Amino acid sequence: MSRISYSTAGFVDRDVEASLDAVAAAGYRQTELVGQAPHVAEPLTGPDLSSFLARVGQRGLSVRTVHAPLGRNALGVPEETWRHEVVERFSSYIRFASGVDASDVILHPVPNPMFVTEPDDPAVVDRIRDAVSRSLDELVPVAGREGTRMLLENLPYRCKFPYLSMVELRSLVDEYPAAQLGLVVDTGHAWTTKRDPADEIAAAGNRLQGTHLQDVDHEDPQDNHWPPTHGGLDWPAIRSALAAVDYPGPWTFEVARGRHGETPEQLARITHQVATSWGL
Ligand SMILES: [Zn+2]
Repeated sequence: MSRISYSTAGFVDRDVEASLDAVAAAGYRQTELVGQAPHVAEPLTGPDLSSFLARVGQRGLSVRTVHAPLGRNALGVPEETWRHEVVERFSSYIRFASGVDASDVILHPVPNPMFVTEPDDPAVVDRIRDAVSRSLDELVPVAGREGTRMLLENLPYRCKFPYLSMVELRSLVDEYPAAQLGLVVDTGHAWTTKRDPADEIAAAGNRLQGTHLQDVDHEDPQDNHWPPTHGGLDWPAIRSALAAVDYPGPWTFEVARGRHGETPEQLARITHQVATSWGL
């Protein structure tokens, strides 16, 4: 099986069907589906799911991973009513991921601080930490029933929230079974918070099951989502770090922007050339 995958995040200018056409046209055989508009804004079920899956296969594609909704949707939202809604929503995407034969579903551990009132309040930070554990306690059995693994992502927020670093995330996932819970490293998120992506990969270690490979500027990184090698990250070091942990999962490219005005189609092809040059 090819190890490379391209996220539909590269094609947010069009709907999911047109995105899948473009991913396949750029030479990929696997994709990560973004679980929000304009892509999979509602998880499909029943006959809609079957016909969607058939259309994916007709393009020579498979869905390797599903990215659950983000932004306001996170395990650690600090209000219980809100958290129950998120757990329901994440459960439906875990079922959807299983339905499209994805190996993993990506979840954000904590919300974007822009959605939280008083994000610097220590009591809010404590509530977020507790909420992450409570949500995982509820979702791990769902993932177990569906045969899908949840992957927690390191996020680019500059705030006092817990679970932004791989060291903290690793100690969290150690409390849960590896078949249901792992980690996904986003290389650009790491450096946006001035953490070395290679160190983050080493910290995730044998619980690392997913990647979001994207480049950012070395100076003043802003979660840029450039194609790998177009920013300032040390890609030889990142590749060595993945080799050193015997990384078994997909090399998923989450490229969304070009620094030279490239079209989404060009970005997908440029990224494919980089992956090929790496021997993937
Ligand atoms: Zn990401």
